[in-house]
Amino acid sequence: MLAPVDDATRARMQKWADTHWKHGACSICSSNAWEVGQDLAEMRPYSGGSIVLGTGVYPLLPIICTVCGNTLLVNAIAAGITDRGPPSSEEPPEEPPDSTPPP
Ligand SMILES: [Zn+2]
Repeated sequence: MLAPVDDATRARMQKWADTHWKHGACSICSSNAWEVGQDLAEMRPYSGGSIVLGTGVYPLLPIICTVCGNTLLVNAIAAGITDRGPPSSEEPPEEPPDSTPPP
């Protein structure tokens, strides 16, 4: 599933691709027409075949062959694009803004 990213994250995605991605022939169609995805993707850890909510995800940068759709996934944390996934269920939720007027 693709998750929307902010402009700063999108800039880090493109910078990573510009400095690290050397391109090369697609392993499926042998073309050399790659495109950096516009959003990060995510992958869940395997949990015995069940979907477990609140476990966090691996954020991934998709690199897509524009000819056949072959997609390579780069770990966005290891690439320095993002420092973490969403908060896990073990972290306390953010405090809601205080809507109570002062006394
Ligand atoms: Zn291809």
